[in-house]
Amino acid sequence: MFENLTEKLESSFKILKGSHKITEINIAESLKDVRRALLDADVNFKIAKDFTDRVKEKALGQDVLKAVNPGQMMVKLVHDELAELMGGSAEGINLSGKPSVILIAGLQGSGKTTFSGKLANHLKRKKGKFPLLAAGDVYRPAAIDQLKILGEQINVPVYTIEGSKDPVNIATSAVEEAEQKGQDLVIIDTAGRLAVDEQMMNEIAAIKKAVNPDEILFVVDSMTGQDAVNTAKAFNDVLNFDGVVLTKLDGDTRGGAALSIRSVVNKPIKFVGMGEKMDALDVFHPERMADRILGMGDIVSFVEKAQEQFDEEEARKLQKKLVKDQFNFNDFLKQINQIKKMGNMKDLMGMIPGMGKAMKDVDIDDDAFKGVEAIIYSMTPEEREKPSILNGSRRKRIAKGSGSSTADVNRLLKQFDEMRKMMKMVSKNGGKLPKMPMGG
Ligand code: GDP
Repeated sequence: MFENLTEKLESSFKILKGSHKITEINIAESLKDVRRALLDADVNFKIAKDFTDRVKEKALGQDVLKAVNPGQMMVKLVHDELAELMGGSAEGINLSGKPSVILIAGLQGSGKTTFSGKLANHLKRKKGKFPLLAAGDVYRPAAIDQLKILGEQINVPVYTIEGSKDPVNIATSAVEEAEQKGQDLVIIDTAGRLAVDEQMMNEIAAIKKAVNPDEILFVVDSMTGQDAVNTAKAFNDVLNFDGVVLTKLDGDTRGGAALSIRSVVNKPIKFVGMGEKMDALDVFHPERMADRILGMGDIVSFVEKAQEQFDEEEARKLQKKLVKDQFNFNDFLKQINQIKKMGNMKDLMGMIPGMGKAMKDVDIDDDAFKGVEAIIYSMTPEEREKPSILNGSRRKRIAKGSGSSTADVNRLLKQFDEMRKMMKMVSKNGGKLPKMPMGG
């Protein structure tokens, strides 16, 4: 699903790879590609433009954390904006009526009948409802048979009036039947046409008026791209529906409908169809969908974690010390603690793209720092402050105290020295903090 979009968005972030800062220029370049990716996914031009404008505004106002690079920051910003575009947090459906009545609308072939069955199945199993399916597609006799077959599969009764050409009557009678039989939910499948036409609209408006549904769901085939958006608008003008169902998301859809519908009709996507089977229905979660579209959910949680944990003030102090060549073992310990606070090392590494696979067979955990910490804790406060005084006899004492060898201590000191030089260089360049070498 959305493979193309995912790929193109991914490559748009590559522009920022290697840059240390988000600037007007590199962000404009990266966002130009993001916009192109959205347009290619059949997102309407204005929506795509507004989208990148909002991301740009947020990116420029953002104090980029030292712990993450601009590319990662950008992934997070685009992710959040995608989720926002698709509707913020997830919304449920209204089942308050007795019985609750749900009206299903949409074009022919959009997947209404299939969805009606899936929804009955879903609410029966997940909410303990006793549904009745009403077969109101009187123009397509096969649709009634289709619903009956689905009803049998999921063990839900199907109501229809044989030979009737009056969908309003079928709908109202179905509700009465449910009341009599103590069924607490009626799902009304309706007729669709190949294109929006007046007769169909009048008919569904009449059904709405007659049964006063608690929830009207508009079903649309996600493969139809911008057409889906136009159809949604036409239906919404007449029905003022409550939510959208996107079907066939398991197919080769480009994603335009999923991304545009919400902002055009201002109605939430509530369910997505992921196949022809009765259990191929997902409750829609904008956040999760954004994760899937980007295929980079891990970076998003990485940035969030870093945002929670990293103390910008500390980082600035550290930077100053580095430039003045005052970085010492106490600072080093603080750094290790920062990294440890961010969680299990392996988890963390796994969140970085490309690293996950590489780290799979390597056993790195929090213990990776144990040896290093032991050595540092065996130093006197003065030694930690001024590593330059660590002569041979001090090193020997530290090795003994920390249960390591003099070679271990020497190695750590050498690494520390190299790291200090490197960090000083980078920080003079105004760059970000490089990764710590791991001794042990
Ligand atoms: P209706 O005319 O709106 O009632 O549409 P149908 O429910 O008859 O669906 C039309 C076709 O799309 C049927 O062949 C369904 O099996 C298929 N279909 C419906 N929903 C999905 C879905 O989520 N994924 C896939 N792959 N096919 C679907």
